[in-house]
Amino acid sequence: MSGRSKAVKLFLRSFLAGEKCACCGEPDTGGRDILCPECLRQLELKSAERCPSCGHGAADCVCLRKNMREAGCSGFVKLGFYRASESGSALNRAIFRLKKNRDRMLADLLAERLAPGVASLLGDIGVPMDGGHAVVTYVTRSARRIREEGVDQAELIGSALARACGLECWKMLGRSGSGGIQKRLDVASREDNVAGMFSVIAPGLAEGRLVILVDDLVTTGSTVSECCALLKRAGAAGTVCAAIAEA
Ligand SMILES: [Zn+2]
Ligand SMILES: [Zn+2]
Repeated sequence: MSGRSKAVKLFLRSFLAGEKCACCGEPDTGGRDILCPECLRQLELKSAERCPSCGHGAADCVCLRKNMREAGCSGFVKLGFYRASESGSALNRAIFRLKKNRDRMLADLLAERLAPGVASLLGDIGVPMDGGHAVVTYVTRSARRIREEGVDQAELIGSALARACGLECWKMLGRSGSGGIQKRLDVASREDNVAGMFSVIAPGLAEGRLVILVDDLVTTGSTVSECCALLKRAGAAGTVCAAIAEA
């Protein structure tokens, strides 16, 4: 987003819509961003938190879960490590807000922070970050969840990430079933649960390109692994994942 258009949007948001910090609700965000300085600081701290596997800060970690690696995924970019116990933290609140609100500016803010990690990962695996070689898609919510919440947060983040990377975002995956009970299942049950839930609805868009698969939060990795495997089978040259956080 250009500085000028962001300034105009911030003005409209804060003065006309009465919006406060998108994470904590603090009324004074300092006028420069949609989050207050404290929430921005918390996001920075989460991004600096060390990954126990690679030792890098979360924002520089591309570590994969075993099932994601086995599904042919080449790297996983995230802004932080999610813990349910940190319920009042800016990272948790940002994820929660996007589940309930079509907050495009918050999605843009988070996507702009994810984009450098995506660019660096693509550089590492030798894929040029242009529309001919790379494309963004997302783990779509179920129709029921979209109806209930009025938002598909993965689509919101995927579109924002594509804008931040100068790429296109397309819906490539269809989803059947409710998916509503997923969070109560363990890894093995989740794998059974997601098998057959997704299908590639637009294989032509994936073909020959690296697909950047976006979700808001990756927990067991079962869902993104299933989607990566399907995209590879549909002809994608490769897949990487990007999410706000890894649990
Ligand atoms: Zn705040
Ligand atoms: Zn790591």
